[in-house]
Amino acid sequence: MEEQQDCTTTTVPVFQLTCDELTRELRTRFNKGAYHGQALYRHVMQHGQRDVTTIDAFKRSGDLADRVQAVLGWATGKITDTVNEGETIKFVTTLDDGARIESVIIPMRGYSTVCVSSQVGCRQGCVFCETAGMGFVRQLTAEEIVAQVWRTRHVMGHPVRNVVFMGMGEPLDNLDNVMQAIRVMQDQRGLDIPLRRMTLSTSGRVDGLKRLAEAGLTSIRLAISLNAANNELRSRIMPVNKRFPLDQLRQALRTFPLPPNREFFIEYVIFKGVNGSRDHVRDLLAFIRDLPVRVNVIGYNPGRNARFKAPEDRDLLAFAGYLREHGVHTRIRWSKGRSIMAGCGQLAAERGTGEHATGTHGNQPVIAID
Ligand code: SF4
Repeated sequence: MEEQQDCTTTTVPVFQLTCDELTRELRTRFNKGAYHGQALYRHVMQHGQRDVTTIDAFKRSGDLADRVQAVLGWATGKITDTVNEGETIKFVTTLDDGARIESVIIPMRGYSTVCVSSQVGCRQGCVFCETAGMGFVRQLTAEEIVAQVWRTRHVMGHPVRNVVFMGMGEPLDNLDNVMQAIRVMQDQRGLDIPLRRMTLSTSGRVDGLKRLAEAGLTSIRLAISLNAANNELRSRIMPVNKRFPLDQLRQALRTFPLPPNREFFIEYVIFKGVNGSRDHVRDLLAFIRDLPVRVNVIGYNPGRNARFKAPEDRDLLAFAGYLREHGVHTRIRWSKGRSIMAGCGQLAAERGTGEHATGTHGNQPVIAID
């Protein structure tokens, strides 16, 4: 017999819901409509308040505020550590089950970008990434993803304008929760972050790119963590390439319905003596031929257990220079926050053993969205 869930006893995970979804919950449970739903959503998402009893719309309805408060759920952990370097701030959230994730705030001119994690650990096994050494622990829920942005704005006090999925984890390995988090963050009655101000970085899950397109999330900025453009080398450093080799990835980019005048970001981290030669840059030119891309050339930032070394600055300049000579829109990304390992994707997460692992999605610094 199918087990029925009693919606009156389960919690309402506010961070996981759009305003309409929250309103539906209030209607089902308390016979209240959009007036109360929108007031509560604004209160939480825009004003950063979680105490329902202070909302005027609820004060006038007897014990409604207390009854609503009792069912709201905030299973998102709490901030347990912050590390600053200059203006860059990394904060650790310890989740309710004890797992730790990290997020990085990069203040820009008058606003901030926040780099969020999408998983605890990662199963993709990129050899340069110390998150891979943690293995896959679990998916983050949509509310745990959204809460990183909410905390940046309302606890850390930073005016978030951009969100980048470049923290721990492969976002396309957790696509249902990532897509729900995106829908919530977009909601204009709440956090109100437009899709064009979100960047999703992937190691190249072709099936996930197709699902994003099918879901209509084509305005999100897509960053491909490429790092090598021949199959032999890429499969060695990024095992995802064995499942989705470069020709499939290239085809997925060719057919992705990008909005007009938009480009993919190709993230190319250079590891000293591994992938930064003239032959490698030629491979890259062949891969991106006729694709609308801009290339970010990034110097590897070695973690504590690094297998590779950082390149010389002149290696980056030569690699980027060759791309530019061939008409490719190229930028060198000098990472902010290097010494705290918070150039985005340089996220350290303790495993509860005192040992640190570097959570690295592609070892990338944050893309500044101007
Ligand atoms: S680089 Fe990204 S996809 Fe690869 S193991 Fe690290 S977090 Fe996972």
